[in-house]
This record gives sequence, C-alpha cells and structure tokens, in this order.
Amino acid sequence: MSARILIIDDIDANVRLLEAKMTAEYYEVLMASEGQSGIALAKSQLPDIILLDVMMPGLSGYEICRRLKEDPDTRHIPVVLVTALDGRDDLLAGLDAGADDFMTKPIDDVMLMARLKGLVRLKLAIDGLRMLEASGRRMGVIAGTSARLGGFGGRILIVDDNPRQAQRMVSELGLDHRPIVESDAEKALLSARGPIDLMIINMDATSFDGLRLAAMVRSESSTRFMPILAIMDTDQRDRLVKAMELGVNDILARPIDPQELTLRARTQIKRKRYTDLLRSNLDQSLELAVTDQLTGLHNRRYMVTQLSALVARAVKGGDPVSILMIDIDHFKKINDGFGHDVGDMVLREFSVLLASNVRAIDLPCRYGGEEFIVVMPGTDADAALRIAERIRKSVFETSFSLGSEGEALAVTVSIGLACADGDMDTPETLLKRADEAVYEAKAGGRNQVIVRSI
Ligand code: GH3
Ligand code: MG
Ligand code: MG
Repeated sequence: MSARILIIDDIDANVRLLEAKMTAEYYEVLMASEGQSGIALAKSQLPDIILLDVMMPGLSGYEICRRLKEDPDTRHIPVVLVTALDGRDDLLAGLDAGADDFMTKPIDDVMLMARLKGLVRLKLAIDGLRMLEASGRRMGVIAGTSARLGGFGGRILIVDDNPRQAQRMVSELGLDHRPIVESDAEKALLSARGPIDLMIINMDATSFDGLRLAAMVRSESSTRFMPILAIMDTDQRDRLVKAMELGVNDILARPIDPQELTLRARTQIKRKRYTDLLRSNLDQSLELAVTDQLTGLHNRRYMVTQLSALVARAVKGGDPVSILMIDIDHFKKINDGFGHDVGDMVLREFSVLLASNVRAIDLPCRYGGEEFIVVMPGTDADAALRIAERIRKSVFETSFSLGSEGEALAVTVSIGLACADGDMDTPETLLKRADEAVYEAKAGGRNQVIVRSI
C-alpha cells in the first residue's frame, strides 16, 4: 500500500531522516521547509498524508493546518502534527486546528509506520467514498452536506478485564462521552453490533485475546467499519505490528496518558461520523436512484433491470416470472373532480395498499402516472392470478380518503397479467402482453383481472 507523503519541516536534518525512513518503506515523499510552499505543494500535488512540524518560523504548524483544513481542495487529507514531547498542551490547539493525528519527537519508527499505514488505509477508504459521492452529486441525487461533525457525545465501548484501568478510562472519557465497560469478549462482540462509535480494546487483557477480538470485529459485516483504539504495551513490537495489520485504527501506549486518550478518542469519533455521513449519503443516493419519489415504490428503471434478469433466467428454463400491470380506473376523473393533490394522495394510498398485498419476494413498482407493475419472481400464472385478485378486491373494498374533507372515494383498478415460463419472452414482449390484457380489462368494464399467460 504505497502512498505519497508531504513532510513540512524547517529543519533539514529532520526532513532527510524521515525521507530516508519512508522511502525505505516505499512511500513517495514530497518536502517543504516552510508553510507557504508546503500549502502550495499540498494543493498542487494532493498528497495522501501531510506530516507537519508544529514549531516553525513564519507560519506556525497550527496556522498551516488551519489553512489546509479550510481549503476544500485539501480538507480531506489527513494531517499529522509532529510536536516536541513537552508540547502536549500544543496538541489540543493542534486538534482544534483540525489535525487528524499527532506524534511526539523523537519519532518512534515502528509507531510512525504503523500510524501511517492506518492513515493511508483511512485515506483510501475516504477517497473511494468521496469519489462515489461526487458522482452522486453530479447526477443530482446527493444534496451538498456542509455539516460540521463534532467528536463529542460518542458511545464508547471499553473492552477491558482490568477494572482499575477501565474505571480510569470511564472517568476520563465520561466527561465528553458515554462510555460503557465490558470485560467479556463475547459479550463485547454482541454490544459492538449496537450503536457504538468507538471500541477501546485492552490488547494485554488476561481473560481474552484482544487481537483475536479485533480480528473478529473486522471480519463481521455489522462491525466492519467500527473504529478500534488499541491499548497496549508498545514495547512488544511484533504485537503492535500485528494489531495494525488487523486493522486497528489507533494505538495508545500503556500506561494510559489520560489527555492522549481523550484526544485520540475524539479523533476517532469525529472520523467515524464523517465516514458514516459519506456512507449514508451514498446509501441515500442509491436508494433515490431506484425509488419513485411520490410513492416510495421502486421506479421504472429498477423494475426493468430486475425484470430483464428474471426473464432471461425464465427463458433458459429457470423459474417462471409473472408480472401484473395495474392501471387505476378513471383516474383522470379523480384529478378533474378533486384536484391534482388529491390525485397524488390516492396514488400514495394505493401504493401502500399494493405493497401490503404482495409477498416479500414481489417487487411493486410505479411504472409511470397511474400505472403500476408488480414483478413476481418464481410465480406461475395461477399463483399470480390469486394475488392479482386479492389486490383488485382489496382496492375495491377500500375507501380512499379525500384529505381534509374526510370524505371517502371509491377507486378500482384494471389488472393485466402476463407470465414468462420458458418461451421466447423478453421483458418487452412480457410487458406488451400485460398491456394488452389491461386494455381488455378496461374494455370489459374495468375492475377486473385479465390473464395473458402466453
Ligand atoms: P382509464 O380507466 O382508461 O385508465 O382512465 P384514466 O383516466 O385512469 O386514464 P388516462 O390515462 O386517460 O388518465 C390518467 C391520468 O393520470 C392523466 C394524468 O394527468 C394523471 N396522472 C399521471 N401522473 C399523475 C400524478 O403523478 N399525479 C396525479 N395526480 N395525476 C397523474
Ligand atoms: Mg393509464
Ligand atoms: Mg387509468
């Protein structure tokens, strides 16, 4: 996993040393000796990570960080502040300036590489999400989000069998968050499926294997994206490397420095909220792309793709597929007599009724206007007819409301049924037959089901 790292540091010897270490690990290194050129380089080269010295003449590390985070071009690039060991107070200021991580000098090589690996992984994940989000935005299915996400009020699951250490973390984190403690790994895994923003795992616990727990959290789909902060003895280098390889997001050395705990927890929670937001935007955009806005049913585009696959399978001798085309009778009269809004309301009420009268495997869709399609996988004409009759009857027996007046309205539907069960069908021929059946139902007096199976 190679990546480009920008080092901004005024002391040439520091830069050269870091460069040598990183080049040895196959990172590509860019360098700047002061803020202005560093920012310019960040903008033009868009590195994956920026390593930023806090103490510099001219622009301070904080100021540089602030400017990078204010610029939409560079905002998403993780910034790691490098400070002197006695500059811990500076860290708060640095995180306020939007820094993503920090390290103290002298830099510990193994920790540095471990952290870089974690950050690169994060950066790649965020890049992927951002790219999808950008295309969603171009297609107009994602609205802009400018939410500022805080790192407070997080639900933290502390997994530790050392009661004293756990208690100390609770009192520290309880100031800003809602921590809970679990001393049993099995139970922790269950709790992690709930609404948790961060897991803190004691990797040196005696009654469970922390590394194994981290691996399980990563491998389970419901907890795969859970941030994990590992508490461990960092002198055990092989275990440290193992933890990072397993996908632990951050590491805190024992004995725990309470301030560092607070800062690292906050960073993880903030990040989680950002990636959650990106992910939920994506979910929404996918949802929107296949959903009809008025009724919440699947839209025509989705129906066509599903139907194509099912028909292709049916003509190859697989399961049959049936479709119902449902057209509301004299819908124009409803619009004309009561207004377009009432018409819309009838469409929505009808959609709810339709969805509740089909089976879980069926796909109720709005085909357009007041026409609907139900795609029924694995369903022959006889079974489909029973469901079609159920829908017809249920609409006939339901009083649709007219909004404020509270009056009721009688609505009926005409349904055309077509079934593909092994012949030369395509989605188009199937839809055409269903359409002809609807026409016949209309001609025959409406409020009826007509079958055109082959
Ligand atoms: P038939 O029994 O023959 O199907 O008669 P009909 O009046 O239902 O059929 P027609 O196709 O003549 O009219 C359908 C009407 O549906 C016309 C159109 O204005 C209305 N319509 C289409 N989409 C919407 C919509 O989203 N909301 C509302 N309120 N009306 C719609
Ligand atoms: Mg119509
Ligand atoms: Mg109609």
